[in-house]
Amino acid sequence: MLKDEDRIFKNLYSDTGADIDSSIKNGDWQDVKGIFSKGREWIIEEVKSSELRGRGGAGFPTGLKWSFAPKEVGSRPHYLIINADESEPGTCKDRDILRFEPQKLIEGCFYASYAVNANKCYIYIRGEYVNEGKVLQKAINEAYNKKLIGKNASDTGWDLDIYIHYGAGAYICGEETALLESLEGNKGLPRLKPPFPALVGLYGCPTIVNNVETIAVIPTILRKGAKWFSSIGKPKNTGTKIFCISGNVNNPCNVEEEMGIPLKDLIEKHAGGVVGGWENLKAVIPGGSSMPLLPKKICETITMDFDSLIENKSGLGTAGIVVINKDQDIIKCMARIARFYKHESCGQCTPCREGSGWMWRMLERMAKGEASKDEVDMLLDVTKQIEGHTICAFGEGSAWPVQGLLRHFKKEIEKRNNFSPVVDTNKNIPYLVDQHLLEKDNA
Ligand code: SF4
Repeated sequence: MLKDEDRIFKNLYSDTGADIDSSIKNGDWQDVKGIFSKGREWIIEEVKSSELRGRGGAGFPTGLKWSFAPKEVGSRPHYLIINADESEPGTCKDRDILRFEPQKLIEGCFYASYAVNANKCYIYIRGEYVNEGKVLQKAINEAYNKKLIGKNASDTGWDLDIYIHYGAGAYICGEETALLESLEGNKGLPRLKPPFPALVGLYGCPTIVNNVETIAVIPTILRKGAKWFSSIGKPKNTGTKIFCISGNVNNPCNVEEEMGIPLKDLIEKHAGGVVGGWENLKAVIPGGSSMPLLPKKICETITMDFDSLIENKSGLGTAGIVVINKDQDIIKCMARIARFYKHESCGQCTPCREGSGWMWRMLERMAKGEASKDEVDMLLDVTKQIEGHTICAFGEGSAWPVQGLLRHFKKEIEKRNNFSPVVDTNKNIPYLVDQHLLEKDNA
């Protein structure tokens, strides 16, 4: 469990107010000149040695990403973009940072922009976060009034302007290159990579795109040191993380905990336990709706960090934990998620555009018990045709949850759809198994 003194987000539950004076009392904007005077190389190295990995879903090392920005500003300006387009179902951590801890984000923008040589920073916030945007704008104004940002920000000689840009409700604009297109005034269509935004980003200029939580933890890392941050959690999975726990739990919540905390602790100790008790647990989506679900057996022991979840064929993603108990129809749940992805596909790539609709329709049939026997294999095949064959990671995000369902709940689909009842002569108990599975087992 995370010790209180190691907590970064001291106002996550709005106990002390989000105004700038309360934030400063809580420790924000301390020793800015001292940190700044150590130089941009020191800042990048410190973030690298903290082993901070991006908190937006992909988990890319933040310091390494910053080091990709050109060292000198050439003919094109550099930009820092904050991705606040939080739209992953089950995820609402950035929202609480924006409304309760905005100064942490703004101070983080100061150091990050200096590190990557950007005098302009855009915060791209999802359109539905109207109130959060208002709080953030107020916080930006307060920071300008105190001369913490703007010309000669914090009396360091560094100029930084921060602007908010509202999205219009498309999930795909959370993908960094679609976000850049949207910011430029175009349709939010992901770009082919390479070139990567660090070299060719906003308006064709070097651009670093980071998630809200990633940037909001930077000031504390620089103040307390990389060693302190990397001493929390596990190697390569360091620091603290805000977990969002929702679904069939008694106390849905956001909580800051150390990386590598057991999933069971998060659910039982922080979220008040599964509705109906732990034995009533069916499955958990550990990292937002695009990550494969885990059955109860794995949830007993799994720890919440990037590497443990990958080992178990899932992912930490945004750390949006959705708990599903036995009162739910798991096939219907996944059909609903598939419908979401079908709706949000930008349509540029055929496998994603067509495949997301196929997956949704097949899952709907399976949920109703109207699927044909060959559709189970066909569904898996469609996920494989999407995975790795698209412009952006949305393809995987739509295919992986379906793969998770097939990996762990295939029998349930077969039972619902009445495929080939066979008799286990050893036990003399009738059960339902697809014949081809038996053939595979016997091969
Ligand atoms: Fe658009 Fe889907 Fe292709 Fe991404 S994978 S670019 S969302 S069609």
